[in-house]
Amino acid sequence: MLFPAEPFKIKVVEPIRKTTREERDRLIRQAGYNVFNLPAESIYIDLLTDSGTSAMSDNQWAGLMLGDESYAGSRNYYHFEQTVREIFGFRHVIPTHQGRMAENLLFSVAVKPGDYVPNNIHFDTTRANVEHKGGIAVDLVIDEGRDPYVEHPFKGNIDVQKLERFIEEVGPERVPLAMLTVTNNSGGGQPVSMENVRQTKRLLERYGIPLIIDACRFAENCYFIKEREPGYERKTVAEIARELFGYADGCTMSAKKDGLVNIGGFLALNNEEWAEKATQLLILVEGFPTYGGLAGRDLEAMARGLREVLDEDYLRFRIGQVRYLGQLLLEAGIPIVRPVGGHAVYIDAKAFLPHIPQAQFPGQALVVALYREYGIRAVEIGSLMFARRDPKTGQTIYPELELVRLAIPRRVYTTMHMNYVAESIIDLYRRRDQVRGLRIVYEAPVLRHFTARLEEVG
Ligand SMILES: *Cc1c(COP(=O)(O)O)cnc(C)c1O
Repeated sequence: MLFPAEPFKIKVVEPIRKTTREERDRLIRQAGYNVFNLPAESIYIDLLTDSGTSAMSDNQWAGLMLGDESYAGSRNYYHFEQTVREIFGFRHVIPTHQGRMAENLLFSVAVKPGDYVPNNIHFDTTRANVEHKGGIAVDLVIDEGRDPYVEHPFKGNIDVQKLERFIEEVGPERVPLAMLTVTNNSGGGQPVSMENVRQTKRLLERYGIPLIIDACRFAENCYFIKEREPGYERKTVAEIARELFGYADGCTMSAKKDGLVNIGGFLALNNEEWAEKATQLLILVEGFPTYGGLAGRDLEAMARGLREVLDEDYLRFRIGQVRYLGQLLLEAGIPIVRPVGGHAVYIDAKAFLPHIPQAQFPGQALVVALYREYGIRAVEIGSLMFARRDPKTGQTIYPELELVRLAIPRRVYTTMHMNYVAESIIDLYRRRDQVRGLRIVYEAPVLRHFTARLEEVG
């Protein structure tokens, strides 16, 4: 198997402990069969999320020591601002403590109650922030993007015809902006093509609607463009990024992903009026414009991370590592979402555990088994997260898919760790009939998956 070996060596190590099955059995019961309630120290391989879990480089750690903690005008802010302008090309750069604050500022200045915001698929914080301003978040990804098994190089693309019809239907005056999420996190980390960005921009321009990119995984998306889109093979990822953002009027960014930092984000805009209003709000809720919600040292680490993430040896390894895990599972006949996206592998839990009905949370049952048997933490994206009660009939409406996401932190785990994860899942697949379903014993009224408590059935 062709897999690019790690383009780094390890200078600092953080021990991880393998607990016994007995310990894990006790801990998962105490946690109410919810892996959000587990102490992280009891986990061997943590694939809960790729957000804020990256390993920083020696260069970034060195940058922390150069933090200038002046309240106003920190040198790290200027370095950060210049870096963002160079990579993304936008005029106004507003630092925030993470992505959702950038979203909150943007929608606070741009969205009025009753407005619509189209996107390929809104990430959950993006949708929640649109709705918080009284807006309506609309997902218009291409049909292929909703089918877990159809192969398509750019399953994150927005359906431009649907977008046009939508704008005509509601009227362009009700659409203050449109978004594209790169890569499309809620659709499995699937990329958006340059052609799709270009066509989207062309359409929006006719109506005078600005295009804002949700840029969380921009480098991973641009690497896919280089790999898959004709005409981009010889361009650098930095050149591809510059072209992509050149079609946009701004971006929101969670630097906890492709900023390679543990905390940080920003809003970048060309529109002077929006930037001014967002900055006023920033001062009210985050901090002075030259630090946002961050320390000077965080800004320095973020500036350095944004450049490192464009390193193509790094990206080849990064995308390759996720794909490698996916291929090991595919070769063993494990049902996973295809093609493998940029930051995670998704297991189809309905197909993995056909004996567990949806009412007994097959995704969560798989998550529990992966922890109890092997010390691996994954996350359910299925009924525990999304099932809801029909207010009229009282019947439960289940999501179409029961997925388990294995999100890979950046530069954290080695190839041998990936082998361990694959072998564990393959081992569990062989004796999957032993996995039991779950029922809820406690749930909160909103976002129940974070705090729910469950018990095993039978
Ligand atoms: C993580 C994420 C966000 C929100 O960022 P936070 O830093 O978690 O607030 C927004 N959009 C996408 C696509 C994301 O993956």
